[in-house]
Amino acid sequence: MKRSHYNGEINISNLGEEVEVLGWVSKKRNHGAIVFIDLRDRTGIVQVVYTDSDFALDIRNEYVLHVKGKVLKREVSNPKIKSGEIEIKASEIEIINTAKTTPLIIADETDALEDTRLKYRYLDLRRPKMQHFLDVRHQVKIIIHQYLSDRRFIEVETPNLILSTPEGSRDYLVPSRIHHGKFYALPQSPQIYKQLLMIGGIERYYQICRCYRDEDLRADRQPEFTQVDIETSFLDQDEFLTLMEGLIKEIFIKTIGYEVKLPLRRIPYLEAMDRYGSDKPDTRFGMELFDLKEILSKCSFTGFKDVEAIKGIKVDKVASTTSRKIIDNLTLEAKKFSLSGIVVLKMENNELNGSFTKFLSEEEKRQLINISGAKNDDIIIFAGGPKNRVCPLLGAIRLNYARQLNLIQPNTYDLLWVVDFPLFERDVESGQITSSHHPFTRPKDEHLKYLDSDPTKVLSYAYDIVINGYEAGGGSLRIYNQDVQKKIFEVLGLTKEDLKRKFGFFIDAFEYGTPPHAGMAFGLDRLMMILTNTDNIKDVIAFPKNLAAVDPMSGAPQSVDESQLKELGIKIEE
Ligand code: ASP
Repeated sequence: MKRSHYNGEINISNLGEEVEVLGWVSKKRNHGAIVFIDLRDRTGIVQVVYTDSDFALDIRNEYVLHVKGKVLKREVSNPKIKSGEIEIKASEIEIINTAKTTPLIIADETDALEDTRLKYRYLDLRRPKMQHFLDVRHQVKIIIHQYLSDRRFIEVETPNLILSTPEGSRDYLVPSRIHHGKFYALPQSPQIYKQLLMIGGIERYYQICRCYRDEDLRADRQPEFTQVDIETSFLDQDEFLTLMEGLIKEIFIKTIGYEVKLPLRRIPYLEAMDRYGSDKPDTRFGMELFDLKEILSKCSFTGFKDVEAIKGIKVDKVASTTSRKIIDNLTLEAKKFSLSGIVVLKMENNELNGSFTKFLSEEEKRQLINISGAKNDDIIIFAGGPKNRVCPLLGAIRLNYARQLNLIQPNTYDLLWVVDFPLFERDVESGQITSSHHPFTRPKDEHLKYLDSDPTKVLSYAYDIVINGYEAGGGSLRIYNQDVQKKIFEVLGLTKEDLKRKFGFFIDAFEYGTPPHAGMAFGLDRLMMILTNTDNIKDVIAFPKNLAAVDPMSGAPQSVDESQLKELGIKIEE
């Protein structure tokens, strides 16, 4: 099939030329004897004019056409499309294929339900916006390949059928036919393999790879997603982060023309929690948390007597609109963070109002106003309790208000590193210690001494890159000393048998000359969301799953034939 030009690329410079184009009918209008057809391909739309209206009667939306004709100037141009100044006067139109009426309108603005869009994803993908998303995604991948190859990285593929990886989520399992009762896991990430590649002397590895995590889905999470997975040998944290932020800078400038200023700020985890109540703070607006423990632990409200933290935020100019219902909702929010309540005080006529003021002396009120900087019509919100609940609660409220009050300027970018994450977390219910990142993360040298006495105090060489309040990637320096690694497994409570079964081969490998190494993984899908300014991860993935982890198009997951199960030695329990 001959094509001389792409539709969106024909313009005034082609006037008078004979062209041949291909594409789908986006719209057809009959004007008496003349027919106008908007013909769409990947690059855009071109207007085709045809005078054989009898023939054109048969042409309908989404038919596939081959058009020959001459480029003419339009009488009235359409500035909304790239080829808007010209049209093609068709001498010949061939209908290559017909199409049924589509269940969704093929245009950027669509009112189709998301499940309809996913069910007919191949039609949804014809929408220019979706094509743009996929195009930017491809550009980003090229930039990544180029940047990393230029710096002596090589892409190495790692297996998809593996032993379970220790990233802390639930694995997708694949039953083995040959070994009944045994399972492969799909990788949550190539973590172990990339570290083995460092032991294998590769020194600089990357891979744009699929990862699989069987978790509850959210707007920014999919069961299978793409990581830009990276590992390097012999670099310290500073050298590594510098290399990585260079990559991000390159991606931003080349895709959206935004100049990222380097070096990026580095905020220690504890400070991020303290000031923003989040380990992925959006710092494009203020409303920082302030500390009220000093002032309020001695007030007459007994609930604040022995709490670990009392933190507050001030929200400007909402006192008059803060209803009982809003306050009740804030209390509900507090309950979600396992806190019994939250206090809201309004600043009105130069004084603090709210039922909680009965617990406050004049001096305490004065200090509260002082520390918060509250002015008339502002509100102060605060809560007391364990730090790891109080800070995230206020962080979440801070973010909600910023969205509600439009405090975030559109098209602004805020990039930073959060560093020095705690090595371990303690599960609130079970009291069990788990790795915050994964068990190969290197503890800070100066904190090794707390490993026995107070492991939750140990900070690590772990870092996340945070963009506009999204965790766009994360990684760490790795442990390369076997004794430290064994100690960490011990603190995590892994038995000798567990260790041998899960990590035996890995621990063995460390005994053959392991270089110091460091790495990280960027979430490509999240990065794409930021670059294309969408808050729905499905927009940047060609064939995503819905929130129930179902693919409405193919119907996966589905039951399989009894014979297939039999081969695998599997019986389904009703
Ligand atoms: N494997 C880690 C992750 O997927 C990243 C890393 O430590 O490199 O989050």
